[in-house]
Amino acid sequence: MKVKVAINGYGTIGKRVADAVSLQDDMEVVGVTKTKPDFEARMGAEKYGLYAAIPDRVKAFEDAGIEVKGTIEDLLEKADIVVDCSPGKVGAENKPLYEKAGVKAIFQGGEKAHVAEVSFSSLANYDDAVGKSFVRVVSCNTTGLARVLSILRDMYELRKVRATMIRRVVDPKEDKKGLVNGIMPDPVKLPSHHAEDVKTVLPDVNIVTTAFKVPTTLMHLHSIAVEIDGNVSVDDVISRFEEEPRIMLFSKEEGFTSTAKIIEFAREYRLRYDLFENAVWRESINFHDGELYITQAIHQEAIVVPENIDAIRAMFELADRQESMKKTNRTLGIV
Ligand code: NAP
Repeated sequence: MKVKVAINGYGTIGKRVADAVSLQDDMEVVGVTKTKPDFEARMGAEKYGLYAAIPDRVKAFEDAGIEVKGTIEDLLEKADIVVDCSPGKVGAENKPLYEKAGVKAIFQGGEKAHVAEVSFSSLANYDDAVGKSFVRVVSCNTTGLARVLSILRDMYELRKVRATMIRRVVDPKEDKKGLVNGIMPDPVKLPSHHAEDVKTVLPDVNIVTTAFKVPTTLMHLHSIAVEIDGNVSVDDVISRFEEEPRIMLFSKEEGFTSTAKIIEFAREYRLRYDLFENAVWRESINFHDGELYITQAIHQEAIVVPENIDAIRAMFELADRQESMKKTNRTLGIV
């Protein structure tokens, strides 16, 4: 029996999670939702079957000539789990619908941690989500930090982490918002919320973060410094990163001089240039005066997709962490 998955919110994250679910042999997409009858709704209707996220919008889809199979409530009747990919904070408003329908739910990083029983990142705390009904997959930046720090935590005694996020201002499709010429401290009052978010999946890590938005849409960039007691072998860290499929090493030597070059590579590598892996610059990994330095880039539109698939497996106890990650990696081409 395949787990039946509804996607509430067929946007940037929703369409990618839907495609990833449809590549698995132990789960299937039973429908997706939109509120607006636009081109993405038409694509969702053709690919997965479309339902109205807001019940009184059914007529708007019909008027636009887009086939709509019912409302979110009709969709939830067919589902075992809903992956809520609605805009930040809307997921919490949707939660009573899921409770009423008696389905499990995954929320995204735009929601507050308390929307779910547990926050989730595969390498950090897969086991915490086993059997749960409400899980939140942490945000793109937090997923990027949590993966790297989970690996380092298993190798060394981490004393303190300092990380600065240089954030892409908006996603490529968001033509209504943006920062054209400037650097925006976000938040101005430091530290940023990212550290607290990392602690939802790695509670023992002592971390402080700052964040700034810059006028680019391609990727976020993280500058990370980790204070570590004792000696650190840069070669060991590089070897461990090489072994972990969800980390991809890039080298300036090979021409990867910026996020623009990483995305140029990804354009050839995968559909929608989705980079599910942390993009870590090999030469940036350096140990100096008790601190390990790492610079990485994060493709914000794609990075949480494998974690959503692993979260479904954990919640239905379909596989342990290793087995789930291996299967997700294989089906999504993460090597
Ligand atoms: P998005 O591209 O704006 O997509 C949101 C989708 O939700 C749209 O399809 C929208 O449909 C739909 N929607 C609007 N109101 C809804 C409602 N009341 N109920 C159900 N669906 C509704 O947003 P996104 O970037 O995918 O973000 C989704 C979540 O993932 C957020 O929590 C965000 O913080 C998180 N996240 C985003 C990124 C990223 O970089 N994009 C990375 C990691 C996590 P209409 O267009 O028809 O209104």
